[in-house]
Amino acid sequence: MVMSTSQDPFTAPFGTLFGERMTVAHLNEGVYTYSGEASPVENFSLHPATHALHYGSTCFEGLKAHRQVDGSLAIFRLNDHANRMVQSVGKLHMTPPDAEMISTMIIDAVEANASHTPDPPGSLYLRPTLIGTLQNIGAAASPSTSAILYVLTSPVGDYFAGGVRPLTIFIETTTPRTTPQFGMVKSGANYVMALGPTLDAKRDHAADQVLFATGGDITETGASNFFLVDDDRIITRNLDESFLHGVTRASIITLATDLGYEIEERSVPVDELVAWAEHGEAFLSGTAAVVAPVGRIKLDGHDITVGDGQPGANTLRLREALTAIQVGKNPDPHGWLTAVSS
Ligand SMILES: *Cc1c(COP(=O)(O)O)cnc(C)c1O
Repeated sequence: MVMSTSQDPFTAPFGTLFGERMTVAHLNEGVYTYSGEASPVENFSLHPATHALHYGSTCFEGLKAHRQVDGSLAIFRLNDHANRMVQSVGKLHMTPPDAEMISTMIIDAVEANASHTPDPPGSLYLRPTLIGTLQNIGAAASPSTSAILYVLTSPVGDYFAGGVRPLTIFIETTTPRTTPQFGMVKSGANYVMALGPTLDAKRDHAADQVLFATGGDITETGASNFFLVDDDRIITRNLDESFLHGVTRASIITLATDLGYEIEERSVPVDELVAWAEHGEAFLSGTAAVVAPVGRIKLDGHDITVGDGQPGANTLRLREALTAIQVGKNPDPHGWLTAVSS
């Protein structure tokens, strides 16, 4: 087991340090039981027939607790993440936990690891996870009726150590990121599906990430949503079942509206992105990286610079608007923060 206390989250790679305590609940016969207390992070004992290992009955969430400028601690958009986890579990056809129980387990996990929360731009990254534990390799066509739900914590530094670096993205127009029935499930299955195209793009095009645009319409990258922005408007794909509805995405849309940008939620053809690159900005959004500027696009053998290739003013403005609320530097008019004791 890796302990976090002695290592520096600002130098360790993202996600490699863990808090010392976690919260755990068990699903049996349709009922989740949670003791109401955090316990030491330790290995689970899993039967080799465990359903999640064979038939993919697993999903997770990713959210953060931030040290506030006044020294207190707060979780960003707790309820939205808990609700999305309920949705993911439902789409795996397992008994979903109550969103309230998930929220309580997250709060308890944060409080138990409060002293390991790095100061901004670091944070305590929170990873609620569910694994189906039914011991039955014959259950390929039925859901797991038992499960472990747990909340692991990870002290993290700045995702972009050394400053916000513009990303190079490869546009994949043939292979989809996922299947229609899994677009809105936050699950490892989607990540492993995106892995092949991502490794190819890294090797063949020196890309950081793949933007999936099956049939010419942009959806998202392997783990983040996609935006176009200029001085007047922001554009992102409208919500449908084909992609994960990011909480960061929703936050950006709300903040951009507050700042007076016009919002366009609609389909975004790749051709429009190419034309947009001549004058506008593009960025990715997600909990881990917050807002990540796109500097270059690789498409059909072309190498396209977005704007001047550097992080744009509007992108940085939106990023700052979001992080200022997360750490309590600006007021929280939308009620996104949940205070926890530290
Ligand atoms: C988690 C995730 C995102 C980003 O969601 P946030 O709630 O903003 O962190 C986007 N796409 C996929 C596929 C994801 O798994």
